[in-house]
Amino acid sequence: SQIIRAERVEKYYAQPSENRIQVISPTDLAIEAGEIVALLGPSGSGKSTLMRMLTGLSVPSAGEVYWHEKPIATAEVNVSIVFQSFALFPWLTVLENVEAPLKARGMEAGERRKRSMKILDTVGLDGFQAAYPKELSGGMRQRVGFARALVVEPEVLFMDEPFSALDVLTAENLRSELLELWQKKTIPTQSIFIVTHNIEEAVLLADRIIVLGRNPGHIRTDFKVTLSHP
Ligand code: ADP
Ligand code: ADP
Repeated sequence: SQIIRAERVEKYYAQPSENRIQVISPTDLAIEAGEIVALLGPSGSGKSTLMRMLTGLSVPSAGEVYWHEKPIATAEVNVSIVFQSFALFPWLTVLENVEAPLKARGMEAGERRKRSMKILDTVGLDGFQAAYPKELSGGMRQRVGFARALVVEPEVLFMDEPFSALDVLTAENLRSELLELWQKKTIPTQSIFIVTHNIEEAVLLADRIIVLGRNPGHIRTDFKVTLSHP
């Protein structure tokens, strides 16, 4: 079933002059339950802008985003975002970082703790709950980012260049671990939407790839794709 649908969404920014900067041209897309979608495109092509509109972090200049057929502003949206920069709270421990979104939702302390410890175990952070982010490597920090995003069991897990700040080997390891967990159905989310400029990453992870092309803000549908393993 369909979780998110974007209808003719666009984004432009006003300019001091009369011209405006069109960052996303009118775009339709949908995210179905059960799929990993990659949004692929070069830097500056509008990937983050489009993702932010799908999550409600940014309001389209025109068009509408629907969650379960309801306009996003009135829908009950359970979404998490993992950022390239990890965006952890440096003054909180690993466990406190992961608990934070549950605390914000008013969940009782015992239940919070139980859920957080379970997801820390899933992402390979068992034993690290008392550490502070600055004591961890980049890869471990991003594991905390994943745990904090997943602890709320989001309908869709959004990731904006989640591996781009990591060295190549760490990124490859995390990526294949993520895929393995997804295939074992141990990731508590229905769908994953990953923003990336890395074509290999998109091909490795995604069931479906949406490409933003050389004209900023335009989804490209004019590719000829050759399958080597049809
Ligand atoms: P990507 O994620 O693909 O790198 P972005 O969505 O971050 O692309 O940005 C797309 C384009 O929109 C860029 O040219 C960027 O400079 C521009 N842009 C993003 N936000 C704003 C803003 N608030 N005002 C003006 N231009 C913006
Ligand atoms: P919106 O208007 O979509 O709610 P903002 O205007 O606050 O969102 O900015 C959208 C994103 O683009 C933010 O992450 C912001 O840091 C970034 N941004 C803002 N201005 C620019 C710009 N001129 N060029 C590139 N990125 C920008």
